[in-house]
Amino acid sequence: MVTTNDPNYYQSHKGGGNGHSHDNGHDHSHEDDTVERVEHDLDYFQVRVMALITILKEKGILTTDEMRRAVEDIYAQTPAIGSRVVAKAWSDPAFRERLLENAAAACDELGIDTSSVNHLVALENTDEVHYMVVCTLCSCYPRPLLGSPPTWYKSFPYRSKAVADPRGALHDLGYEAPEGIELRVVDSTADCRYLIIPRRPKGTEGWSEEKLYNLITRDSMIGVGDALTPDEFEANRAALVE
Ligand code: FE
Repeated sequence: MVTTNDPNYYQSHKGGGNGHSHDNGHDHSHEDDTVERVEHDLDYFQVRVMALITILKEKGILTTDEMRRAVEDIYAQTPAIGSRVVAKAWSDPAFRERLLENAAAACDELGIDTSSVNHLVALENTDEVHYMVVCTLCSCYPRPLLGSPPTWYKSFPYRSKAVADPRGALHDLGYEAPEGIELRVVDSTADCRYLIIPRRPKGTEGWSEEKLYNLITRDSMIGVGDALTPDEFEANRAALVE
């Protein structure tokens, strides 16, 4: 294992040593039978990760299987889990109360384990108040309910503008918050993570929980968007079928 702290070391070695070129400029090294002495096919961070994995295995701290399972658990966490919780809250007023009272216990009822989050808080968007979530420090996010945060959530512009100019930040993300509504920005931390219950769209009276579930987007659960209206849902579905 090569070790160096110089990122340029790997940059300068990446793709180096390829002695032949093709007319179209593409690298065909994986398409023909030519053996090439490629020594550094990994970028800087991949090499660091490989080194870390090697050390953890050598020291007997983690096995390959444990790492595989951990990665699978990460990929199994998606916003679909949060959508289930919100759909239940929209459909069952007693569950909604329990969710607002103690979000972790309410998620437990649905078999959703949020124990990796110290304190989980559900907040409800209404016609008067609109909550949106940011982590000003880094990227704290309710992963057991929403999966991994999107790149913009972790970006410096969002983390600063969400606080300084929340309406502007929402506009940048393509969402216009309702006129006159009170915007409340909540700062997610290592200790406390938030799930937003979006406003239930008009025209969904009498809808089943399963049908409501389809309207609940990731962004609406971060508070940077609304749930889909029935019309938006139909238009999306039509576009998918086309
Ligand atoms: Fe954070």
